[in-house]
Amino acid sequence: MTEISLKTDVALGVTVPSRHARGRAARIGPALDQILANHGYPPVLEQLLAEALVLTALLGSLLKDPSGQLTIQAQTEAGIVDLLVCDYLGGELRGYVRHDPERLAEAGPNPTLFSLFGRGYLAITFDQPAMNERYQGIVPLEGEGLAEAAQSYFAQSEQIPSIVRLAAKKDERGWVAGGLMFQHLPEGEEGRDRLHTRLDHPEWPHVAVLVGSVKPEELTDRDLPLDDLIWRLLHEEPEVRTLPPVALAKGCRCSPDYIASVIARFPPDERAAMVGEDGLIRVDCAFCASSFPIAAEAA
Ligand SMILES: [Zn+2]
Repeated sequence: MTEISLKTDVALGVTVPSRHARGRAARIGPALDQILANHGYPPVLEQLLAEALVLTALLGSLLKDPSGQLTIQAQTEAGIVDLLVCDYLGGELRGYVRHDPERLAEAGPNPTLFSLFGRGYLAITFDQPAMNERYQGIVPLEGEGLAEAAQSYFAQSEQIPSIVRLAAKKDERGWVAGGLMFQHLPEGEEGRDRLHTRLDHPEWPHVAVLVGSVKPEELTDRDLPLDDLIWRLLHEEPEVRTLPPVALAKGCRCSPDYIASVIARFPPDERAAMVGEDGLIRVDCAFCASSFPIAAEAA
């Protein structure tokens, strides 16, 4: 078995048994560069997508079903960004942003994340086919950024106290994004029925303070392994366990064969209408910004 580096392109699960807390740490570097390279977004949107992708990695690595998929979708009514979608399947990440370039240019060099969105909502979908489980929760897009929106998702949608920290930066080595998410496991979550939702969680604030003290530069430090980062924050706890790490990579499910099979299902007259001047049908994958030319006769 090849060793998985705990520095980049990895997610690491953690439990703190005495505090009934579980957590995830994730950092993406080369995989993030690969995802962003195809899109060619302005830096402010690269930053937004980088944070969204590391959040996706944190949430996706919670899935117990290896065939499970996690999707986050931010959608707005009239935002500069009207749609952001990222998903996770088996350690593979992909994502894209749909935006209005003219309004983005008018917003200046450093718009806040939420001035990009305006009014909208964040939907998180956990889809675990092997366990026959699909769950979607939706919350308003509120707060300073995606980390806060994710926290309020867990508070409102699942009544689980959570802390989420995300950071991303670009330097001479490229993009890097890191994140931490810790949650208080309600009693009953492990084996027993949940009898009631406790709103006071006496052991939780302690964990939240320790985890919340993480600095953005620690999250994005490619030379700081995630287990060392966790240890830095939680070394005074009597017991901290790490779970097997999950390797992260750029991935997309689009394939020329699949796209040709979809095209083939259209009636001939509709297919004819899709053919461009070069005699090919071009199908774009928004997720990975790839274009697939399909020969009209093949379809
Ligand atoms: Zn694709």
